[in-house]
Amino acid sequence: MKVVLQNLTKKFPNRNRKLKEDVVAVDNFTFEIPDGELIGLLGPSGCGKSTTLNLICGLQKPTSGKIFFGDDDVTDLPPENRGVGLVFQNYALYPHLTVKQNITFPLENLRGADKLTKQQMSDKAEAIAKLVQIDGLLDRKPSELSGGQQQRVAIARALVKMPRVLLLDEPLSNLDARLRLQTREEIKRIQRETGITTVFVTHDQDEAMSISDRIVVMKDGVVQQIGKPQDVYDDPVNLFVAKFLGTPPINVFEGSVKGGKLTIGADTVLDVKGVSDQDVWVGIRPEGFVLRDDGAFSCKLSGLEVMGRDVSVVSTNEQSVNPTVRSIISAENKVDLAAETVRFALKPHKVFLFNKKTEERIRFDAE
Ligand code: ADP
Ligand code: MG
Repeated sequence: MKVVLQNLTKKFPNRNRKLKEDVVAVDNFTFEIPDGELIGLLGPSGCGKSTTLNLICGLQKPTSGKIFFGDDDVTDLPPENRGVGLVFQNYALYPHLTVKQNITFPLENLRGADKLTKQQMSDKAEAIAKLVQIDGLLDRKPSELSGGQQQRVAIARALVKMPRVLLLDEPLSNLDARLRLQTREEIKRIQRETGITTVFVTHDQDEAMSISDRIVVMKDGVVQQIGKPQDVYDDPVNLFVAKFLGTPPINVFEGSVKGGKLTIGADTVLDVKGVSDQDVWVGIRPEGFVLRDDGAFSCKLSGLEVMGRDVSVVSTNEQSVNPTVRSIISAENKVDLAAETVRFALKPHKVFLFNKKTEERIRFDAE
């Protein structure tokens, strides 16, 4: 089912009554989610992710704008008539019901032509339980399950009616790190197998990048960028997006451009043809540094961090916005820890320039 958001806007009266201005939780959001895609809605807390999801499922009404499922305008439909499955961070299973009863619960109140027999409900619950791999647990109570298993029950319950759209709001936040990794792979698999159009809300860029067909990066209610995870990472439109994606995060420096050359502090580090003379923010991805004795960019060496097959060189630079500069180099590189300075050449396509005021990307010709 294709989902279309058309100039979707949601304003709330300000909670601080002294401030008259409304809070614009979602600001003019227009996007077409193709049938069967998994979209990751990503941004810091308070940027409007949950509000967007609540608008799609009908728990909240937009101040303006429209929502379509396929060709149906669902803007004024109540949630129960939209055919959406919902999973929240607090998955709220019924403690006194078994897993099976929890899963069949949404089926119990189907009426008229949709009404199911006990046997049909049981069959559906079993099929869905198999899909989310909890078929051995159907007779247990939620208290007898681990957090990850409980979350699977919640997903099964959202899926049992075969919704047209599946909406997940930070569904993994209550799980420990290992389970979070495992469960997100599971969600991806379930989504692929069912082909249900899915919106997955998270503030965790790593999570969004790893499971989404496309990500939508939001800030203050405004969509910043939409694209395939790798494309957004490789080609951010502004400093916010560049900083939000990537671990370790992008390194940001104050720099300036003069005569088509980029300087950071005293070092002239890169040719940036086509950029007019100005001060800029320079973002350099950790993998954009190449260790070289004759490298143009010099930093003060602090130490090394070995993380499996990668080595991270930690250094400092007076122009750096962050206290440390992190560069990832391959383990074969030898670093002289006694040295005071470390020198880098830069990979041009891993270096991004941003307008000092607007923080919008400034593109340059990198040969
Ligand atoms: P997120 O899910 O990205 O953390 P939300 O969508 O919950 O963000 O909130 C977006 C903004 O809207 C925040 O500034 C929040 O305080 C505000 N907001 C959300 N719900 C309400 C509400 N019911 N009343 C007033 N303000 C709200
Ligand atoms: Mg939220």
